[in-house]
Amino acid sequence: MKGVRCPICDKKMDGQGPKEWPDWPFCSPRCRMVDLGRWLGGVYRIETPAGPTDEDESVPPAAPSADVHREEA
Ligand SMILES: [Zn+2]
Repeated sequence: MKGVRCPICDKKMDGQGPKEWPDWPFCSPRCRMVDLGRWLGGVYRIETPAGPTDEDESVPPAAPSADVHREEA
C-alpha cells in the first residue's frame, strides 16, 4: 500500500501499512481523535439527497421589488 494519505489532514504516509502505523488509517493519534470528534459531532452524515426538511428553512423566491421601489420613490 503506497501513497496512502491521512483522511484527516491529507498527509501522505510513507509507511507500508498498519504495521508501521498504529493509528492507521490516520497519520497520528491527533488525527484519529479529530475523526472521532467528527463522528460524535455529527459531521459525518449519511449521504442522502436534500430532503423536505431543507425546505423548511428555505426562503421563498423574493417577489420582484421593482414595483415596491417605485412606490417608495
Ligand atoms: Zn493526519
